[in-house]
Amino acid sequence: MRDVVILGSGVAGLTAAYHLRDLDVEVIEAASHVGGRTLSETFDDGTWANYAAQYVSDDKIKVIDLADELGLELIPSGFHSNDLRAFDPSASEDPAAVAVWIARLEDEQATRRPADSAELDQVSVAQWLDDAPQAVKSFFETWCGSLIFGSTIETSLYGLMLIWGDNRTSAFTDRPVARSNRGDTVFRGGTNRLTRALAEASGATLTTETEVLAVSAIQDGYHIAGIGKDGVHETTARHVVCALPAPVALNVIADLPQTKREALGAIRYGRNIATPISIAAAGQTVAPCPLVPSRPDQTYNSNGFVLRTPGDMDSEGGCFHSYVHDVFARPLWDDPAASVQSGAVRALVERFPQLSDRIARVGYRRWRYALPHYSPGRMRHQAALEASVDGLHFCGDYVLTSNMDGAARSGELAARKVLAG
Ligand SMILES: Cc1cc2nc3c(=O)[nH]c(=O)nc-3n(C[C@H](O)[C@H](O)[C@H](O)COP(=O)(O)OP(=O)(O)OC[C@H]3O[C@@H](n4cnc5c(N)ncnc54)[C@H](O)[C@@H]3O)c2cc1C
Repeated sequence: MRDVVILGSGVAGLTAAYHLRDLDVEVIEAASHVGGRTLSETFDDGTWANYAAQYVSDDKIKVIDLADELGLELIPSGFHSNDLRAFDPSASEDPAAVAVWIARLEDEQATRRPADSAELDQVSVAQWLDDAPQAVKSFFETWCGSLIFGSTIETSLYGLMLIWGDNRTSAFTDRPVARSNRGDTVFRGGTNRLTRALAEASGATLTTETEVLAVSAIQDGYHIAGIGKDGVHETTARHVVCALPAPVALNVIADLPQTKREALGAIRYGRNIATPISIAAAGQTVAPCPLVPSRPDQTYNSNGFVLRTPGDMDSEGGCFHSYVHDVFARPLWDDPAASVQSGAVRALVERFPQLSDRIARVGYRRWRYALPHYSPGRMRHQAALEASVDGLHFCGDYVLTSNMDGAARSGELAARKVLAG
């Protein structure tokens, strides 16, 4: 019997593994890569493609601390995460009305209340905006889509307060948030550098390409059953750290208390389709990029091509970490990958015609569980989301905040609970 089995090798699971490195730990992962939504790929020319997590804003202290401890290089991102929003209020159809509603939102942020207050948690952004002009509704619709991959219906007022402004680790602005002095950064070489380094430093046994199917309590511990490339995989452990997406956790763990089941069931995720586009340095010869039909009038890039590898693309080459968030990902979900990739390339070329003969490669990845929403009513489940069930401890970006930092902090918390016995 192992000390601990960790289910899932994303930031949450591997941060837990790192903090449990003195124990006998196995990490079981369904995918062939470790790192979950930090998936990235590095190329011979030194450039890299990120398929999901990209930047570390200066309030993401836990991720920055881990990077420093592991000797990883965080470099200036070359963009500010605010650029992602790309929706300058003054460019709205009704800037004055948008300014009024931004002031209301900032008033809400200035007054601290419990996160599960009905007025914050039970109200969707759409309800809060009920009597706002259409231009204001559109402004916040785009905002929620870009920042949390959800709509104003799927986001609570509390959630909007969390993703508004520079203060994304707190919904409130009455107390300062701890920050590094580095500005927004990215991992040199790709975000997967973080999770690979965590995996290595943890010393845990990594079992990849093995899908966990069932976890059940046995005497003094847990039995974990999965199916992998070599057939059935069974193991036992005194503790389990579950770092799976909430719907998967709900599905595989037997006999959870009703409050835990309800809490996990309350977590909804936005989708995302990533199509990172690598660009060769100027003057390099690349094979023409083959294109197949894509849908007319469909959005194939929703981040405005803001996210990209830092550095000079002309001299070094680089990658646009292009993607579409939920509302645009849904209609494309079942389209052939080549069609979605072609749509993304057409969007890039329309924006940067000078790059049309420098497209070196285009990636493709669908994320069914891309970002957990801050849905109306979610915060009243917070205690149950964080709670352990005997020797079963839960972590993941649905537990605290919907980003790498929230995932890492939740992984550290789960490890502490294991160590506490
Ligand atoms: C497009 C995109 C952009 C993003 N940008 C940013 C950003 O810029 N900054 C930021 O901080 N965050 C960003 N995020 C969010 C960030 O990626 C996540 O919050 C974080 O990586 C989640 O880590 P996690 O460990 O909770 O989950 P995951 O990384 O999803 O890990 C869960 C793991 O469980 C595995 N798994 C699932 N089912 C099973 C099973 N049955 N058996 C075994 N293993 C299983 C999965 O394969 C996965 O590896 C982005 C996400 C997306 C999708």
